[in-house]
Amino acid sequence: MAKKKSSDNDDIITQRCSFCGSYPDENTVMAPGASPGVVICSNCIDTLKEALDDFRVTNAIPVKYSPDSKKQAQQSIFESKSVPKPKEITDFLNQYVIGQDNAKKYLSVAVYNHYKRLAQNNDDIDIEKSNIILVGPTGTGKTLIARTIAKMLDVPFAIVDATVLTEAGYVGEDVESLLTRLLQAADYNVEKAQKGIVFIDEIDKIARKSDNPSITRDVSGEGVQQGLLKLLEGSIVNVPPMGGRKHPEQRMIAVDTKNILFICGGAFDGIERKIAQRLNTHVVGYSNNPERSQLQRDNLLKYVAPQDLKSFGLIPEIIGRLPILTNLDPLDRDALLRVLTEPKNAITRQYEKLFKMDGVELIFEREALEFIVDKAIEFKLGARGLRSIVETIMIDPMYELPSQTKTKKFTVTRQFAEEKLNKANFDTTIIK
Ligand code: ADP
Repeated sequence: MAKKKSSDNDDIITQRCSFCGSYPDENTVMAPGASPGVVICSNCIDTLKEALDDFRVTNAIPVKYSPDSKKQAQQSIFESKSVPKPKEITDFLNQYVIGQDNAKKYLSVAVYNHYKRLAQNNDDIDIEKSNIILVGPTGTGKTLIARTIAKMLDVPFAIVDATVLTEAGYVGEDVESLLTRLLQAADYNVEKAQKGIVFIDEIDKIARKSDNPSITRDVSGEGVQQGLLKLLEGSIVNVPPMGGRKHPEQRMIAVDTKNILFICGGAFDGIERKIAQRLNTHVVGYSNNPERSQLQRDNLLKYVAPQDLKSFGLIPEIIGRLPILTNLDPLDRDALLRVLTEPKNAITRQYEKLFKMDGVELIFEREALEFIVDKAIEFKLGARGLRSIVETIMIDPMYELPSQTKTKKFTVTRQFAEEKLNKANFDTTIIK
């Protein structure tokens, strides 16, 4: 029975749960139900959630092994022309990602070939999987490119951080948990998940810790790389539906990773030295060669090769399963300025939209944008820092303008940006 209180809100807090009849106490929170007068307690919500999760797992569409139906489904993807051509993929990426032409080209071809592979006939020639590894400084668009491709193809997409993974049996997450994320992104539709894209971030952090085998096991380095092998190459993997550690009583979902595209990304800090070493040894004896000095001046990442990844600490088996290797360039001042304004969902466009909803036209002066970019460079934050800097500058106007009905236009000048940033005592250590 509901206790009478003055406001609706209080009613909900003190009312009995319409399902189990219990009254709220310090361990129970009440929430309003779908119909007026109905409330549900947190215990019932938990029970319901478990039942729902169970339902999703039980009803997950199982892996179909019938070769005919599989072939039909795969062919239809390709023949229905739903797979865009490499140039169309690049055109789409251009709307969201500034620069990185090399990476865009490699990825567009790899994704296109991946779908060709899905449609291949079972004849003598077997097109192999084209997993990708992207090498480039942090905040240059590795995740953005992968995410944008997934958006375009409308396939399930999961981002996982390699740093949380450990070898089975140790504290951390099993490698299979990255497929849990993909299953979740596919709403537990196994068939869909099996054609999804997984982006493994910070792959460089699972590099082998040292070349010398030691008595301490490298459980978050080489151990994880070994665990990843079977996922990358394509096999049927038992995935814990809720992630975390596997345990014997748990029900598992079998996922075939054969057609899942894996894109790995990493900053590989310091790999330039390995590249330089390799290139120099190749030109030994030609010290006056102008090409050599040119190489040193250029962005060395451009020349990254599989053997550099090996020197960095990736095991050859992993490198072999990531046949497409490409690099991302550091974003210079011009590129950062373009990041601020040009992409379809550029930061400044987002703020303009926010202000427009309050009937205010927002204008960023060119000098203000240059100031923001210079600060991002000064703080060594790259593109990642642009949003935080703009947010810091815009917080006051976003707070005040909605109450000032007379203001119809707001211009962000360099002076305004400088003042706000100085006042806020911008803390660069919080942005990674
Ligand atoms: P990382 O290379 O570390 O994966 P992200 O892709 O996560 O970097 O980039 C962080 C943010 O910076 C993105 O969400 C995007 O707003 C911006 N950004 C980075 N690189 C680019 C780029 N090349 N073009 C447009 N925006 C970019």
